[in-house]
Amino acid sequence: MDANITVPPKAGHVRGVNGRNRFWATNLNLFDAILVMEYEKMLERAYMLLPKEALNKERFELPELESHIQGTKTVIKNFSGVVKKIKGAEKDLIKFLTNELAVPITFNEGQLLISGKFLSTQLNKVFQNYLGQYVLCHECKKPDTKIIDMHGVKVLKCDACGATHPVKRL
Ligand SMILES: [Zn+2]
Repeated sequence: MDANITVPPKAGHVRGVNGRNRFWATNLNLFDAILVMEYEKMLERAYMLLPKEALNKERFELPELESHIQGTKTVIKNFSGVVKKIKGAEKDLIKFLTNELAVPITFNEGQLLISGKFLSTQLNKVFQNYLGQYVLCHECKKPDTKIIDMHGVKVLKCDACGATHPVKRL
């Protein structure tokens, strides 16, 4: 190798004026271009090999209320956990359930005590309604939302797509 060329110029920066430097730089550019092409091909292959589930990493698993009947009441034992999962406020969901079920509800040590006997499927249906109205974006259905106050109107704002949708005050 020619001793004068110890550091080949960086790709895209042809500084040398003699033919040899230019030759190196051109070669390097080509080499880089091939590397980039190979890299892109590799990425494409890797992408195609990924299972579809992994690509949809924002997939949100909807939590479910776990309940059982105890005497004349229904207990939702995982209430606090579910609320935490949907990043909601306990009092909002309690208000919603109270309105929908039209029975007194008390909250105690992370559990919810509902007056009356309700099936788990019944409660989860009401809960799904709550998610649809107050948690999931009305446009893209993603859960990355928050409820904000917009000129006195409660609005569900999506952080993922930016959509806003007015919601009923609880
Ligand atoms: Zn959205």
